[in-house]
Amino acid sequence: MFYQCPKCKKNWQYPLEKCSECFLELERRKSEKIKVVGISKVSIPTIFHPKVPYFVLLLEDEKGNRWVQKSVKEYKIGEEFKKEAIQDKEAVAIWRIKYEFLEAIERVVDLLGGLKINQDSKILILPTLNSPKHSYFSENTGPEFLAAAIKYLQERGVKTENIKVAGQSFDEIPISASAQKSQLLNVCQEAKINPLDLAQTKFVKKDAFEISEEVFSTDLAINLPILKAGKASASENLFKLLKKENYLGLKYLSSDKEIFQGLTKFLPPILTLADAQNVQKRDKFVAYLGLVFASFNALNLDRVFAEITMAELPEALKSAKIENIPILGRKVEEVQFNLEKQ
Ligand SMILES: [Zn+2]
Repeated sequence: MFYQCPKCKKNWQYPLEKCSECFLELERRKSEKIKVVGISKVSIPTIFHPKVPYFVLLLEDEKGNRWVQKSVKEYKIGEEFKKEAIQDKEAVAIWRIKYEFLEAIERVVDLLGGLKINQDSKILILPTLNSPKHSYFSENTGPEFLAAAIKYLQERGVKTENIKVAGQSFDEIPISASAQKSQLLNVCQEAKINPLDLAQTKFVKKDAFEISEEVFSTDLAINLPILKAGKASASENLFKLLKKENYLGLKYLSSDKEIFQGLTKFLPPILTLADAQNVQKRDKFVAYLGLVFASFNALNLDRVFAEITMAELPEALKSAKIENIPILGRKVEEVQFNLEKQ
């Protein structure tokens, strides 16, 4: 991704607000054809790059823009550098955030084969909204991440009035308090979106599950969790689509994995877009990871995240085999490091 001045055509690799000479807003431009123009092999491990050897590639696009990228695969100079998209509902896409969430979201969604959305699509977004904590605790989905997801939809023509941002409280704390303190309410207000309390919606009974009818009357639901070390945060966030009393009853009788498997049988395909820029560890401190994940299978996404952060697997993920999950974008070895040791 590059940023170009529409007048003087000067390029920047990072999103400046305006061209420093013409004071015009920069245009976002995608690199189309990327070639490897330089390679260096690294054999000394560091905290962020514990696995060696790896390669640092110097890449160049068709417009002569250059940048570096880590790779576990060895390339030859002159070779084309491609990231293939596949349409597989089990696949998990990973991308590193360079300067903005929006680019990372575009990349992971492209890797999954894109979305069929237009101006009439109705979208339901479900961020993690668990407690009235400020965003620097990484307890709830980050406000910048929610804002980028909304912008992603708007840039694809989705009308703002067709976007709903939903949440539900499963404890005594009113959802409005969490929405305010987490700054997610702010993001909704700035985008002119009315937040939706799922507890106020109708629930449809499907076998043992009472599921908000909102998820069935929407064209696409986006699960927008923040990931936490040692947890299955993406899968768990979908429980918020259940009626509170129903969820508490299910939880008394079944494991998280059983609830997840039972619930997803009745849900339409849901895109999970996960915020893993600043990740809460089990001791509640926050470590920088700088990644975005996407998948139509939330459990697979949680499993890949656990592999990358080298965390002890939560019970719900123990039977998910990492070798059976197609992984796109970045390889696990390229982005893996032990969060808990930081
Ligand atoms: Zn300019």
